[in-house]
Amino acid sequence: MRIFCFAVSLMFSAQVFAWSNHTLVTYPLVATLPQVRDAAPVAVESLDSFLMANEKALETFLDQQESWMRENLWHYAPRPDALAFKAKDSRKDLRSRFTQAVRINPNAKLPLYLQLLPGDKRQQPEIDFASVSTLADSDSLEGVQFVQLMPGAKVAPLDVVSTASVEPDYGLDIGLFTDSNTDYGKVYGFGEQPFGNPNLDYSTQAPFHMGFYHEASIVYAFGGFLKRTYPEYRIQLYKQLSEFAFNQGHDYWGWRFMGWGLHYIGDFSNPYHVMPVPGNSTLETLRVGLLNIIGFPTAQENAIQLASNRHTVLENFQSLVMTQAYLEQNLEHPTIQALTRQGEARKFNNHHIVTVMSQLSYDKGHDIHNVLERAMPENYVNDPAVEFSELNARTSLQETVLQTSGEDGFNALIDVITDLLEGFSDNGASYIEAILSVDNSSNDQSES
Ligand SMILES: [Zn+2]
Repeated sequence: MRIFCFAVSLMFSAQVFAWSNHTLVTYPLVATLPQVRDAAPVAVESLDSFLMANEKALETFLDQQESWMRENLWHYAPRPDALAFKAKDSRKDLRSRFTQAVRINPNAKLPLYLQLLPGDKRQQPEIDFASVSTLADSDSLEGVQFVQLMPGAKVAPLDVVSTASVEPDYGLDIGLFTDSNTDYGKVYGFGEQPFGNPNLDYSTQAPFHMGFYHEASIVYAFGGFLKRTYPEYRIQLYKQLSEFAFNQGHDYWGWRFMGWGLHYIGDFSNPYHVMPVPGNSTLETLRVGLLNIIGFPTAQENAIQLASNRHTVLENFQSLVMTQAYLEQNLEHPTIQALTRQGEARKFNNHHIVTVMSQLSYDKGHDIHNVLERAMPENYVNDPAVEFSELNARTSLQETVLQTSGEDGFNALIDVITDLLEGFSDNGASYIEAILSVDNSSNDQSES
């Protein structure tokens, strides 16, 4: 039923990345989590080699996993049976048999590489963005460096996890819907793209990176498409694959899959990824939706444009501030400190993905626009006629904030971001410790 479609296409047209560079937020977490920081270096292994070595076991595992998904997820689109992974004892179609079974973009690059922190230098040869991503380069990636790894080389788990935690933004979830204009989207079983603009390739990943789990039931009743989001599926898929890889003794892929799942948990820490229009009450959402249905779309288009601009401004500011902190080696910066592990993590439970992990920033998101309105220039966050990304204002954003609202405004933004990142640190540590715990009782598949 799509009578109450919020015409969300605009909402995601500008961008769908939560924190534009997840390495910035993952690294301080895993570098202070002893189980990752102190883990022995592992041998780099290509995906094909991993698949070949585990072909039979993978067939059984993915089969059981699919049944589990069908039974346990908040919302799921069952994987069509024809896509099930079949062991053939052959390298033929090996990678595509796998990508279709886990329903990711078969053109994903999945090279052996590391993404470095700002200012980091390594011996390995540099590779360009086109070698790691299917997407067009973006200015938010300015200065991001990648280096190539060779099979068999030893690499630190914390580097693998922090690198992999950005990878889902490099094309894995692009084009997966029937109207995405891709061969694979037609057969993956996700139907038409529930929201976002199907004509913009990077926008097609939105329903995999945004999870709307906490709306009032009346909102779902009118806008059922809002239920069709898949971060919980991705987190479970990669968490369980990570556990499988560790079990099979293929630790490099254990860490890499762990990083993939961590990406979506990172996305959750941005309120703009867990609610359709942060700041709008249920009543307001319904009001603008109804106006749209009866032929007055302006209120809704405005709400969506404002949400999009605020989303972009928030993540651009965060990325600039953290990049600068790393370049200055200022590890005492509050955003980095917020991610640093101090105590024990909450014990993971499967239902936490929906009930806790995505709830934290949802609760914090209701008044985030107030802080943005206070700290940012009016036209960046409060003028629906403006598309922020067209202002060319990104690189000077920190200075602009200081000019607009002084140290107070600047610090208010840092405080908000710090608070959100603390949530990611708790959620991420809980997820990682669950994967690494010897006693896997909390991951018991009967419990959900
Ligand atoms: Zn994402």
